[in-house]
Amino acid sequence: MKEALYYEVYNKEKGQLKCNLCPWYCIISEGKVGNCHIRKNIDNKLIPLTYDKFTSISLDPIEKKPLYHYYPGKEILSFGTLGCNFHCQFCQNYEISQADFDESILKYVTSSEAVAMAKQNKSFGIAYTYNEPLINYEWLKDTAIEARKYGLKNVLVSNGYINEEPFSNIVEYIDAANIDVKSFRDDFYKKICGGKLAPVLRTVEMLVKKKKHVEITNLLIPGLNDSDENIADLVDWVSALGIEIPLHFSRYFPCYKLTINPTPPSTLERARKIALKKLRHVYIGNVVEAEYNRTYCPQCNQIVIERNGYSTSVVGLKSGFCKKCNHKILY
Ligand code: SF4
Repeated sequence: MKEALYYEVYNKEKGQLKCNLCPWYCIISEGKVGNCHIRKNIDNKLIPLTYDKFTSISLDPIEKKPLYHYYPGKEILSFGTLGCNFHCQFCQNYEISQADFDESILKYVTSSEAVAMAKQNKSFGIAYTYNEPLINYEWLKDTAIEARKYGLKNVLVSNGYINEEPFSNIVEYIDAANIDVKSFRDDFYKKICGGKLAPVLRTVEMLVKKKKHVEITNLLIPGLNDSDENIADLVDWVSALGIEIPLHFSRYFPCYKLTINPTPPSTLERARKIALKKLRHVYIGNVVEAEYNRTYCPQCNQIVIERNGYSTSVVGLKSGFCKKCNHKILY
C-alpha cells in the first residue's frame, strides 16, 4: 500500500494522525478516514486508498473540462475516482465524490499504465478530473512525473482546496488547469461547500505565478452567488491576475441536495456582460447557444474557434494567432 505524503503523528497514545494535505487538517484515528473519505489511518500510517484505483476513465474533448484555450478540439485521457474534500450541496458528481470508499467498483491503473493508455489513445496528455484529484495527491504526482517523461501534458480540474506546501511541490508538473471558484464569498464556501475561499484563490494565484495555463469556472446558483457584487468581485480578481484568463460561467441545474430552480439564462447573460467589461474571453457553459461558446479575437472580433456542444472547429487561428489580425489567442 502506498503511504501518504504530508501527514504526521498527532497523538501517539491515541493512535491519531494529522493529515496536512488540505486546509481541513483532519485528525484521523486508527481505522478511520479523513473528511475526504479516502485517506485512512491503517496501523498508524496514512494511506491514500484511491492510489492506483479509479471509477472513471474516459477519452474526453478538452472542452469538457472546460478548457477552451488549450489544445482546442483535441481529446485527453481523463481519470477520476472516489472522494472529495468539499461537500457541495449541488455537486453534479456526488455519486463518486461523496461516496464511501468501495474497492469493488474501482479499476486498477498504475501511473505507467495510465501513460501507456494515453499514448495508445493518441491523447496529448492526462487529465485529473471528475472527483477532486488533489486528494489523490500521490498518484497524481507520480503519474504527472511519468507523463512528462513521455511528452504528455498534465491537466488539472480541481476545486483548488489544498495547502500551500503540497501544491508548491506538484505545481511544476501541471501544464494547465481549470479551477472551480464557486463564489467570491467565504460564507458561501462555508455553508454550501464546507470549505474556505482563501486557499482556493491562493492555488489559482500559484498557478498563474508559475505561468501555467489557467481557466476558471464559476457555477451561478440563483440567490446564492449570482449578485452583481459577487460576480464583479470575482471578475476584478481574475482581471488583476490576467485579462486573458478565460472565465466560464456555468448554468446550475438542481442536483444532489440542492433543489433551487435552474439558473435563468438572463442571469448568465448578465454575468457575461459584467465580465466582458474587464476580461477578453468569457463563456457560458451548460447552455446550447453556440454564440456563448465561440472564441472571438478580442482585437478584430473575428470568430477564431467555433463550438457546438463538444464539436469544435478551429476556424480562424494559425499557430495560436488570429489569422486575420495576428493577435495572440492561445497561450
Ligand atoms: S486531504 Fe482528506 S484527510 Fe487530508 S486534510 Fe484534507 S480532507 Fe482531511
